[in-house]
Amino acid sequence: MEALVIHAPGDLRVEDVPTPELGPGQLQVRVRCGGICGSDLHYYQHGGFGTVRIQEPMVLGHEVAGVIEAVGAGAPFKAGERVAISPSRPCGVCRYCQQGLQNHCLDMRYYGSAMRNPHVQGAFRQQIVVEQWQAHRLADSVSDGEGSMAEPLSVALHAVRRAGSLLGKSVLVTGCGPIGALAIIAARRAGATHIVATDVGAHTLGKALKVGADEVVNVAEEPDGLARFGAEKGRFDVLFEASGNERALRGAFDALRPRGIIVQLGLGGEMTLPINTIVAKEFDLRGAFRFHEEFAVAVELLNKGLVDVKPLISATLSYRDSARAFALAADRSQAMKVLLNFD
Ligand code: ZN
Repeated sequence: MEALVIHAPGDLRVEDVPTPELGPGQLQVRVRCGGICGSDLHYYQHGGFGTVRIQEPMVLGHEVAGVIEAVGAGAPFKAGERVAISPSRPCGVCRYCQQGLQNHCLDMRYYGSAMRNPHVQGAFRQQIVVEQWQAHRLADSVSDGEGSMAEPLSVALHAVRRAGSLLGKSVLVTGCGPIGALAIIAARRAGATHIVATDVGAHTLGKALKVGADEVVNVAEEPDGLARFGAEKGRFDVLFEASGNERALRGAFDALRPRGIIVQLGLGGEMTLPINTIVAKEFDLRGAFRFHEEFAVAVELLNKGLVDVKPLISATLSYRDSARAFALAADRSQAMKVLLNFD
């Protein structure tokens, strides 16, 4: 079978890789669809992000869905069933796994990640062998592409969990790439009554409105666009910061009410922040990283039609056309989520 292997920035190759052996409790899945994530783009464009760098060839990808080809002994699935695959593979036995904090596992083997050495090979491949607990059945009404969106939706659901109750809350989302847009969907599902989204691009803000934002602010055209939310010490109860941009985070402080909750989703490296504002307005600054049990929730929401991620799928291209697909995925003026087809 073939896989998409990153060797160096800009050097992404289709290569033959062996199909792993199927063991007890495992499933062999024919991968049909895979979403290109921001981290895949970082590996492709820069060879990594932050201190994480590619040290050896690595199969990219962690947002995939497919159809079961073979079932290992004891796995409660049948060949032909369509599934979304969770890339979250915690050890299950470390102290954090035992506390239900699997995203902090001491021995996490998340697909397509150069965070450990040897790297964990990814899921942009024609066939993959997974543990049965990674597989989540997709309803007939959910396409393979929507199924592959379960992973980024899980990230947004985890961020919403980190925020606490959103029932009746006023929410600001800064940065409306796929994760920010999915945060809008997840926050609305969780009961947020007013959602404002900011970005620097008209295309992304159009998508933000399409998935349910009440108002959008283009901060490239209108740098002080959030000023109207600054009366009485700020309007918003919760900020989801999904851009990783220091200016976006700082720019939201005046619009966030005292004791407001900031959920930082975007990875932005080093930032300088006005700590006095955080102290005086008693902000809660919370990180949100990956997910674990939220994957099952994401698939259930998709299966029941309780969320619609279709507006965020911009294009589906063959994995053999990866250069074009990655260029499109990097172009926020015309693309949100770009999917690869592995048929
Ligand atoms: Zn663990």
